[in-house]
Amino acid sequence: MLDHTHDPAARSWVDAANAEGTDFPLQNLPLCRFRRQGTAEPWRVGVGIGDQILDLSGWGVDDMNALMGRSKAERVALRHRLFDALKEGAPRLDLLPQALAEFTVPCRVGDYTDFYTGIHHARAVGALFRPDNPLLPNYQWVPIGYHGRSSSIVVSGTPLRRPRGQVKPPDATVPVFKPSERIDFELELGLYVGPGNALGQPFGIDEADEHAFGLGLLNDWSARDIQPWEYQPLGPFLSKSFGTTVSPWIVTLEALEPFRIPFTRPEGDPQPLPYLDSPAQRERGGYDIALEVWLKTPAMAAAQRLSTSNARHAYWTLAQMLTHHASNGCNLQPGDLLGTGTLSGPAPEEAGSLLELTQGGKQPVTLAGGETRRFLQDGDQLGLRAYAEKPGFRRIGFGACDGVIQPAP
Ligand code: MN
Repeated sequence: MLDHTHDPAARSWVDAANAEGTDFPLQNLPLCRFRRQGTAEPWRVGVGIGDQILDLSGWGVDDMNALMGRSKAERVALRHRLFDALKEGAPRLDLLPQALAEFTVPCRVGDYTDFYTGIHHARAVGALFRPDNPLLPNYQWVPIGYHGRSSSIVVSGTPLRRPRGQVKPPDATVPVFKPSERIDFELELGLYVGPGNALGQPFGIDEADEHAFGLGLLNDWSARDIQPWEYQPLGPFLSKSFGTTVSPWIVTLEALEPFRIPFTRPEGDPQPLPYLDSPAQRERGGYDIALEVWLKTPAMAAAQRLSTSNARHAYWTLAQMLTHHASNGCNLQPGDLLGTGTLSGPAPEEAGSLLELTQGGKQPVTLAGGETRRFLQDGDQLGLRAYAEKPGFRRIGFGACDGVIQPAP
């Protein structure tokens, strides 16, 4: 699975790709859809290298979804060609500085499903919404998810309007319709589906990787005052569908290969049912990806890190999400997006949402300048970041996933 494209000594003729701490060294090669800023040109597929973009339209790649539908072998072949073209000593090609580009959602997302694989988040939120019954009994058996809204998925940098909605305070007898006062973020990864499966034809857990294309950052913005009033009995609805922000870059599973880790269950927890279990899953089903949340309020000169976590805390693997989703015969399609759910860690400071960091808004967090926050205020910029690193390999990053809250209409 590992090959010469993971060699940490490999360097690029693009200087910025060799810089310490860059998200996009030669070993990463993340994909995006971009065009030159200020133009109405059609979106093109590009690959990030250092602070530049290589346009793939001369490479037989003019549509991201079509690329996603190609086999894993074809994707690996493209990665090898890109690596050869961008490595030190290869002839220089025309590139576009990322600073002169604008980006869009990296593919056409047909369907968007959000899972709930962060058990520490599920426990913490369950305790707030249902103190007597925090973790529902199905959680350790079935990968929980809900069908989200793909039309309101936006790329990093797109402002987010504070939604209005029905809110019923606990002591009120009737709900009111008003701007949400509890806008929150959710720290998630988004899994982009590669080749799909035909309707009525599920696949086995060890075939799941064939259907996975890559990962990006995903912020599942949530209105915490609308959510508790609407979520029973059919799950989240308008508390989530007002916006979901994704990073412009898709980091391929090929690039993430060095950072796979064993998938284990805590002592005493049930093991997954056989259709979600295999020796390969146990050996290398998980991913070690560091996650960060950053906040910049209008009063701050620079953003402040709010929390850190890791994708290793997920209770279900990417392959289990894919396999379970298709297990009833549901057809996945290239470009479908599967959110992991909020990937909080076990410690309080590893929380992937303000709901957890403030214990349901009861304990405000104090920021560097002395300001406090229970939930996000107008003008606040919330950013997600991620990277993978391991001795013997080059660190790779995911780019930015940022959004600023704007006042309700
Ligand atoms: Mn979510």
